[in-house]
Amino acid sequence: MDIQNLLDDIVGAVQPHVGQGNVADYIPQLGAVDPHQFGISIATRDGDVYSSGDAHVPFSIQSISKVFALALVLAFDGDGIWKRVFREPSGNPFNSLIQLESEDGIPRNPFINAGAIVVSDRLLSVTGSAALAVRDLMRRETGNSTVAADHYVAASELRNSHRNASLAHFLASCGNLENPVEAVLESYVEQCALAMTCEDLALATRFLAANGVGADGTRLLSPAQTKRINAVMLTCGTYDAAGEFAYRVGLPGKSGVGGGIVAVVPNKCAISVWSPGLGRSGNSVAGVAALDEFTTRTGWSVF
Ligand code: GLU
Repeated sequence: MDIQNLLDDIVGAVQPHVGQGNVADYIPQLGAVDPHQFGISIATRDGDVYSSGDAHVPFSIQSISKVFALALVLAFDGDGIWKRVFREPSGNPFNSLIQLESEDGIPRNPFINAGAIVVSDRLLSVTGSAALAVRDLMRRETGNSTVAADHYVAASELRNSHRNASLAHFLASCGNLENPVEAVLESYVEQCALAMTCEDLALATRFLAANGVGADGTRLLSPAQTKRINAVMLTCGTYDAAGEFAYRVGLPGKSGVGGGIVAVVPNKCAISVWSPGLGRSGNSVAGVAALDEFTTRTGWSVF
């Protein structure tokens, strides 16, 4: 298969969707991003990288960081985190408070905000900084030592983080935070504010398509841990549209409100797409269309 040709083709095919949807504006810095951009990259298990469109433009990875924070907690700390967070889809918006109260402060999964805050809290305890731990993992896997948080985005979110602050305080009230609320929120927001390109993200995600083995050949996760992260991505990675994403794309994936999505074809490759316009559930409209196109044309899905 000529992957480069395919990606160039997909860039053309998704143009009618580029600019559709709405750019996230609850984080003011994200609201200023030009929605008429689209990029796609693939990093194969064998080490090849293919890119097309705006694949070299850095964007805010936001919730995509939650996958990497979870990987680090599982790698450094084992399965203990699963006493503090469930692994079920929520069916509610990513920043919802409702289930947290009815389920005694145990978030539904590690990819909604409440669950990700718990994971960042644990990563903060284990490493001293969730944000730096995630950043360093990204730098190692991409070989790009300039990967860093965009501090304007972080500051912009922190000034407007009443919702995440209420989730964190509620978690603390249930005894499900180990560190002070402010420290956890800062670390979480900073990890979400990492700026990366599609190509960076495809490279960083590749270990999930390689049974847990990182770029330099060292093992980050066991094959079983890798399988489990991919499973949680499939069921919980794309907000309350995970069913629709499985139907259209058929791959484990994780999206972010910056318009990025990463997806994993186990044992083959990692894919990253980006286009800032979001649909109703918060997933990139053109990004989902591109992944749909990709798996439909190649047959590379888990189904
Ligand atoms: N930092 C964002 C928030 O907590 C991440 C949201 C997302 O990408 O889903 O609201």
